This record gives sequence, structure tokens and C-alpha cells, in this order.
Amino acid sequence: MNGMITTPKRPTRQPLPTALDLEKIRDTFPALNQLVHGRPLIYLDNAATSQKPYAVLDALSRYYSRDNANIHRAVHQLGERATRDYEAARAVVQRFLNAARPEEIIFVRGTTEAINLVASSFGRKFVHAGDEIVISHMEHHSNIVPWQLLCEATGAVLRVVPIGERGEFLFDEYEKLLNPRTKLVSIVHVSNSLGTINPAKQIVEAAHRHGIPVLLDGAQAVPHMAIDVRTLDCDFYAFSGHKVYGPTGIGVLYGKTELLEAMPPYQGGGDMIASVSFAKTTYNVLPYKFEAGTPNIAGVVGLGAALEYVQALGQDAIADHEARLLRYATEKLQGVPGLRIIGTAEPKAAVISFVVDDPPISALDLGTKLDLKGIAVRTGHHCCQPVMERFGVPATARASFALYNTAEEIDRLAAALEDIVAEVAARAKPTGPALVDVPFPTASAESPVAAAAELAELFEFLNAWDERYQAVLEMGDKLPPLPAAFKSDANRVHGCQSTVHLAARKRPGTADVLEFLGDSDADLVRGLVAVLERLFSGQRASEILAFDVEGFFHRIGLDQHLTLGRRNGLAAMVQRVRRHAAAIVGQETAAVG
Ligand code: PMP
Repeated sequence: MNGMITTPKRPTRQPLPTALDLEKIRDTFPALNQLVHGRPLIYLDNAATSQKPYAVLDALSRYYSRDNANIHRAVHQLGERATRDYEAARAVVQRFLNAARPEEIIFVRGTTEAINLVASSFGRKFVHAGDEIVISHMEHHSNIVPWQLLCEATGAVLRVVPIGERGEFLFDEYEKLLNPRTKLVSIVHVSNSLGTINPAKQIVEAAHRHGIPVLLDGAQAVPHMAIDVRTLDCDFYAFSGHKVYGPTGIGVLYGKTELLEAMPPYQGGGDMIASVSFAKTTYNVLPYKFEAGTPNIAGVVGLGAALEYVQALGQDAIADHEARLLRYATEKLQGVPGLRIIGTAEPKAAVISFVVDDPPISALDLGTKLDLKGIAVRTGHHCCQPVMERFGVPATARASFALYNTAEEIDRLAAALEDIVAEVAARAKPTGPALVDVPFPTASAESPVAAAAELAELFEFLNAWDERYQAVLEMGDKLPPLPAAFKSDANRVHGCQSTVHLAARKRPGTADVLEFLGDSDADLVRGLVAVLERLFSGQRASEILAFDVEGFFHRIGLDQHLTLGRRNGLAAMVQRVRRHAAAIVGQETAAVG
């Protein structure tokens, strides 16, 4: 049950000395003050998005309830006020980044759009076949894919700086990649999956020695440290408002004037033109050349309020507090048995990615079990699949801290993890049986429809997600372990974030009965495999194909609690079962295609 807490107030113990008045600060973030699954929320998913203070919520509400009008065009009062607030926020961002001029601040939807803008506009003008773009192995997908698209369109080549064992940027390797063909370097300032703070100034200096411009992806840097684009001397700097306590859907591209001037518009539309005729259109001056259409005015106003809020608290005080949180959390999490931190470079921002190896607990299970204890962390590949592949893990769990987090919350995270590890260790799974006597499961009823009715009846009694989750886990626990010989590549179900295998056969002595066994390293997914076995294993292939399995998962209320990635994983498992069924009834193309 989720609900707002009014009383009693959670005491905030502060064993870490901090210049921030945490109790007062936490009171200004209403979302922090609520129960999740009956426990006080501990929000540690700040690298994905941060919570918002009243300063931002009030600015949004004020804007919409008093000043709302379109900007730059109206002669009326509201239009003037909206324009004034919008441009005042640009000046706030300029000061926040220490940019030389307000025209160097372009409002965009977020870091992703900022990078796409540069890839598209700078790329169109300056990048040609055979040219090179340099990124690093620790980039977020939004600093990989736009460059791949550009390379596909132009014939340019993407070069990737490798990273070391601790998740550190390998500077010598970077320097080796710089050459006369390099047209742009685009590097993350702070890694979202590892926490590594990259040597941004030195990265820029090295590129500039070759006359190469540099874009810094500051999505994870801006919330944690003061940024001075003139000291960094970077050519572009990108960040998102929502990670720095501002609204979603708004972000900033900083660019040096001479580069922005030289680049063609990104999108065409209103506000970005000086004059339009069918014969020739001329473009507006900076920054409007890059702000086509009605912008996210409220978002800009909210972002301005967020940056002023951060500056009023003091960026050095925030950085200092978060550094202490990071040290404390690292020490506490290292004390959890079997837990391994991925990303231990120095210096590091307050982000801790981790896996539990012994007993092995999938990141998905860690995240789901922590959520049931009211603790929000992120699990998955964090939009950094190359980083996961570099460290040989499918996914990690990630706790990321913000200015409002406390040492007490870290104590509770560590204690919760210890409980989870102990609970999983206590029910360690037996190893698989010999291949010869594998018990293929028999369906729990005589048809998928009848089996579904039985399962639906069971789930009807379970209201809350934690009860349903528990029921699925228990089904997974009873799943017979898959013999190692079945864990082959051919049986691997791709498209799932965890490792999933599914081995199927036509039941010996029957014409059309499919039976299968499955397994996964994630308890939740084992549970879903068990549900699929109960529904389908031992059923006639034609009946499996006729059954509406998506509708069934919706009916029993499981799909709403699965992330998009999980739902895709479930869909991949269902598709695999259907493919086997289709093969039996000889309709392979119809079912798979
Ligand atoms: N770069 C990094 C390092 C990030 O952490 C993120 C968000 N996770 C992005 C880029 C993309 O930001 P947005 O989704 O706000 O555009």
C-alpha cells in the first residue's frame, strides 16, 4: 500500500557531519515523505531521475496558474511575463555553467536531444566519409547511438576509448586515437553505470592540441558538482533538468558561439527563422536558430528554479555531503557477504553499481526484493550495455545518491541486502539432476484454458503486488532445476535481461503434445517460467497456439509490475514456447512471423 505519511516523522540520524540541514531539506521534497509497501521510502534511484523540491513544483504551478502564454510573439502582458521568465532562466543556466553568453545556452528536451542535435547538425556540416568520432566504452546509449547513426549516414567511423578494470578512462589509449581524421570527441563527464568521474579538462586539452572539438555529456555531473564550461574549455556540454531536481522534458545544450554559428539548424519551424519565402528562408540568430517551435516553457522556468535551488544550498556543500555518503555506502556495502561493487575508479561520484555473486542473486531479484522493503534502486544495464559486457555481467543493481540522502538510509540499504543474501542462501538450490531422468512437467490441468482458470483463481485471492510476487517466487522455487546439458546456446532465450533457458520436446509417444523445462538466474523469471510450465507444458500444441497468454498475464495482474524490459523478456519466453508448438503442428511461419 502506498500513501503519504504525515506523522510520525522519521528521525534523521546524521552520523556524517554535513553542512546541509538534511531534515529541513527533506521536508522540501514531498515525494520523499511516503510509504512504499508499508515502509518509509528510501529513494536511491537518483541517477535515473531525482525528486523535486517545492521550489520547482511551486515555480511550475506559478507559471501555469499566472503567467502561461506563448513566448517571443505576444504583445500582451502574459506573453511578456512568460518571455521574461523564459529568458531569465536562460541567464540562470548561463551563470550556472559560467558560459560566456546567454546565446550559448540552447534549450532542448534533455541530454539525449542535445547529443542528437550536435550529431545531426555538426555532423551534417563537418563529418564526412572516412572521418572519425571518438567516444568511450563507458558511454550511455544516448552518446553511442546518435554517432552510429551519423556514421551510417556519412561513412564516418566510430572509435572507442577502452576502460580499465576499475572502470577508469584509459587516457593513454585515448590519446592514441586522436588523429587528423578525428572530427569530434564525445565523452561522458561522469559515468551513470560506474560513477567514474572522467578527467574532462585533460580530455579537452588533449583533443584541442589536435584542433578537435569536444562534447561532454554532463547528465550525471551537473547534479553532483559545479560546472564551469570556460575552465573546462569544452566546445559542447549537455545535461538534463530532471536529474538535477528540475522537471522532465527539459535540458540544455551549451555550445561555443563560433561553432553554433557555423552549424546548420537542427529542426525547422516557428521561431528559428528570420524570414520565410518559398524561394529562400533565412534563419534566426542564436540561440533561437536551434529552438524551433513552441518550447517547453514551463520546463525552462522549472529548470531555472532547480538550478537556483542547488546554488542556494551550495554546490560545494552538496558535493562534500555526497562524497561522505559515497565513502560510507562503499564501506557498508563491501561488508555485505557476496556483494561485489562494479566500478571503483578514483575519483567517483555517488553512484554504486553492484552484483551479488555468492549466493548468485540476479540484479532483477535484488531490485524487486529491495522495492518490497521500500528501497528504490535501479537494476538492469542502465543503458550501458557495452559496460555490462566489459565487466562480464548481464546487469547490475545501482544505488545512486542525491543531496537529500542520509547515512541512516544507507544503514537500511545494507541491512536489507544482508537479509536478502541470508534469505537466498538459506534456500540455496540443489544442483540439476542427471539428464536421463529429467522430469518434464505435466500441465496442471487438461487444457491451457483450464490451467489458466486455476491460476487465476489463486491470484484472485492475492491483492497486493508483494503477495503476488511471493506466490510467483514460490512457484519458481518448486521448479525442477534444469540439467546443465540443457543450458546450451540453442536453448537460451534471447531478449531477457537475465539468463533464461528453455528446453522443449514433443512428449514421447504422442503426436502433438509439447513439454518443456526452463530456468533462469533471476528468481522472478524462474517464477514466470513456472507459470508458463503450469499453463502449457504437457498440452496439445494447437491449444497452446490458440491461447491468449498476454491477456492471461494481464488478467492475473502480473504484467503491470514488470518493467518494459521484463515484459519483453516474458514475451520472448512466450514466443519461444509458441515456436516449439508451431514446429509440432507444422505452422512455424505463421506463429513466428
Ligand atoms: N547520459 C548519461 C550519462 C545519462 O545518465 C543519461 C540518463 N540516464 C543520459 C545521457 C540521457 O539523459 P536523458 O534521458 O535525460 O536524455
